[in-house]
Amino acid sequence: MGKGDRKTKKGKIIIGTFGLKRRHKKNNSPNTITFIKRCCYCREKLIKRKIASKQLYYPSNGETDDHIPQQCLYEGYNVEFKLNRKKVLSCYKCNQKFSEIENDLRDFIGILNIDNINQEELTISGVKSILSHRNASERLCYNKNGEVIGVDFSFDNFDLNHLKNFKGIYNIEFKNIIPKEYKIKFINDPYSQKKFTPILTFLENNDDWKVSGHEDIFRYKIIPFKNINGEISKTNKLSDSIGVFSLLHYHKSLLILVIGTKKDKIIKKI
Ligand SMILES: [Zn+2]
Repeated sequence: MGKGDRKTKKGKIIIGTFGLKRRHKKNNSPNTITFIKRCCYCREKLIKRKIASKQLYYPSNGETDDHIPQQCLYEGYNVEFKLNRKKVLSCYKCNQKFSEIENDLRDFIGILNIDNINQEELTISGVKSILSHRNASERLCYNKNGEVIGVDFSFDNFDLNHLKNFKGIYNIEFKNIIPKEYKIKFINDPYSQKKFTPILTFLENNDDWKVSGHEDIFRYKIIPFKNINGEISKTNKLSDSIGVFSLLHYHKSLLILVIGTKKDKIIKKI
């Protein structure tokens, strides 16, 4: 019996009064309170930030915010370029893992820059970062006069970076985590993209650019599609789709085409 409960002469509790003023005990079991959301990259269940931060070492599945795209791509830009940047929830482990490779893309965009004054700081950071790297001399390419004419980059790191940003925009646009079975392909260079002209045209006709921060830094498109009798069309329902087409456009200089398909669905001809 709790305070406020009423009972009959025989001791029965009157229906509807039991526990009226008795507080329910809070259930602090980690399974019900701690884990609610998942990392949008690896799908790991996240430990709430408040709980994770009380631990001696931040747990690998502790909740963190991660910017899409990485913050270093905004280096040197005014605050107006950084408004409304998009974020996702990620585990601490993924956040750390991606931060190790994110500077590579900044360095690449930085040294692609020729005369864009807004990108000056990216260029300075890129050159500094490349020259201070322990294997700098192996990465630089020289001409016969000993002048630097190029730098080697790891395309694996770029793909990992695009994968992160693609999973991020999927999560932002569809409020969903990309299913494990998705097969994801990146087409990085304009020459290879030419073979996918119908998909590029499809993307051009079926979606407006969306922006994180500012279109000069990062804009993207992402469209779920279905295939009926060999005809590709847009669908708003993810469940009806056989995959998504996407474009990631960095600094209006680096365009990446992404094709994500559910593993059991094969596109024979587009
Ligand atoms: Zn993760």
